[in-house]
Amino acid sequence: MSTGQSVRAEQARWADQGLRRLAVLAAWAGLTVLQLGVALAYAGLGTWWHWLLHQLTGWGLGLAAAALVTAATGRRVPAVVALLVGQLLSIVPDLLFRYARMPHEPSMDLWLGHISLHTGPSPVLVSLGALLLGGWGWIASAYGRRLPATALGTGALVLVTAACLLARPVPERLADYPTGTEPLPGRVMNPR
Ligand SMILES: [Zn+2]
Repeated sequence: MSTGQSVRAEQARWADQGLRRLAVLAAWAGLTVLQLGVALAYAGLGTWWHWLLHQLTGWGLGLAAAALVTAATGRRVPAVVALLVGQLLSIVPDLLFRYARMPHEPSMDLWLGHISLHTGPSPVLVSLGALLLGGWGWIASAYGRRLPATALGTGALVLVTAACLLARPVPERLADYPTGTEPLPGRVMNPR
């Protein structure tokens, strides 16, 4: 190869690398904007709490499933894929409500405990616990530690399932709703 050819080859390689970096950067920027959009959409409807609960649980269970898949098959599942799939599955009922006007119903627990998480024991601890167990499980699986990965991934699934099984049933009839009109403790009603 002449000097001119090798310089051109080197330039082409640099351009190729530059394009790839630009594509990765664009993908991350797009993902960040999408995440901000989803978060703002929930916040705009006054349901940021709903968003937080389902994101944490979705991320945790996504990572937990990825850890179990890696432990069983040896195939590594990228964390971003696990996080996004888990997040998407956890908010399917909200997407159905937003775009198909489909109301929430108890069977929607199939979407990572979407209904029962709210009335189960300590939703914050359960969703945080799922995220920590799933995250640690994914890290263990990335280091090839099959046993801890399986134990931690299973732990996250068991935690969310147990919380859903222990949840108070969602009121279905008007008579099941509390009718007291006194203000909830710690809340200021009609501040003026
Ligand atoms: Zn919902």
